Amino acid sequence: MNKSEVLINRAEKVIMPTYARFPIAFESGNGCVLKDVNGKEYLDCVAGIAVDCLGHNHPGLNAAIADQCQKIMHVSNLYWTEPQIDAAEMLVKASGLDKVFFCNSGAEANEAALKLVRIYAKQFKSEYAVEIIAMDHSFHGRTYGSITATGQEKYHKGLDPLLPGISHVPFNDFDALKAAVTDKTCAVLLEPIQGEGGIYPADHEYLQAVRKLCDDENLVLIFDEVQCGMGRSGKFFAYQHYNLKPDVVCMAKGIAGGFPMGGIIACDKVAQVFTPGTHASTFGGNPLASAASRYVLSVITGDGFLDEVAEKGSYLMEKLRVLKEEHKCITDVRGMGLMIGVAVSVPTGEIINKAMEKGLLLVGAGSDAIRFVPPLTINKEEIDRAVEIFEECL
Ligand SMILES: *Cc1c(COP(=O)(O)O)cnc(C)c1O
Repeated sequence: MNKSEVLINRAEKVIMPTYARFPIAFESGNGCVLKDVNGKEYLDCVAGIAVDCLGHNHPGLNAAIADQCQKIMHVSNLYWTEPQIDAAEMLVKASGLDKVFFCNSGAEANEAALKLVRIYAKQFKSEYAVEIIAMDHSFHGRTYGSITATGQEKYHKGLDPLLPGISHVPFNDFDALKAAVTDKTCAVLLEPIQGEGGIYPADHEYLQAVRKLCDDENLVLIFDEVQCGMGRSGKFFAYQHYNLKPDVVCMAKGIAGGFPMGGIIACDKVAQVFTPGTHASTFGGNPLASAASRYVLSVITGDGFLDEVAEKGSYLMEKLRVLKEEHKCITDVRGMGLMIGVAVSVPTGEIINKAMEKGLLLVGAGSDAIRFVPPLTINKEEIDRAVEIFEECL
């Protein structure tokens, strides 16, 4: 047995089989390249599923974490620390919203948002306004609230009873949303670019109409930007492509470049209902996570970084569209920035496995798409190589 087979053997005895994992065990990484325990190298176009936005072993991020852990790793949110305040200021500035709550994951961010909007609606709409409308094919996480909001049956199996008061309508269908709104509705939850559901960006007019509907009906508009935010789309938040703002935005994945962190940012009007005791998290925004995030945010919002993401995203998109002209099995290429889905008419798993053998990591999305979500620091030569290997697998 080679080293990775030995590890996988051990793992299968002690780790719950909740993931359909690839038979690779990784040991180290550098930039967009990962190395497994047998020494084989892979070009990483998964990036921990849109998490490792600065790539692996980033010297600045490593230094930020090493530096902070020699000061304080953790204190309770009963006290203040500067890294958390710095990170919050940067997020407020980047979002155009007002107040941040930090947690540790995307599911927790959505959970915080669901609690926030119900409390808000009771105070500012009516005690009956408890219902949240989410989208088909969405993904919001695995806690009971966030999984209920997730509009994919396959994730609900065996879990009932789910959280009451959450319904689903088709994404990008304004009439369906409008028809679903009643006096009992308190909020609308959607991903401006659906990620796990298959990489579907919201239509421009649709999102404008949703914003207006929420204003007219006193509904809180929540955007889940756990995947499409933090620079992935070529702007800091995907909603910034649409010239509008949500009332609440959910974040996680890339927010601290691989260090576990999540959070929400809300406008003051909604945020004000979170008062002492209404919500909390032991680890949320702890000094180490916040120092990692502060560093990552400084890079993403730094000079020219997002323009480069947009430029490299267009470059990759263009190359994949050329492939589409040449290969009948590609039925669609969609996305924004460095969040791109290639829909294929053959099983995605076959292509992904072939790519893995050839040293390219990709991940599926939805029923028919193969997702490219590389580190935002990927360069054009690496994009060329990724597309070249991908083409060999078609
Ligand atoms: C990944 C993801 C989540 C869940 O994040 P976790 O950190 O796994 O809880 C929620 N929403 C979206 C859009 C995601 O892509």
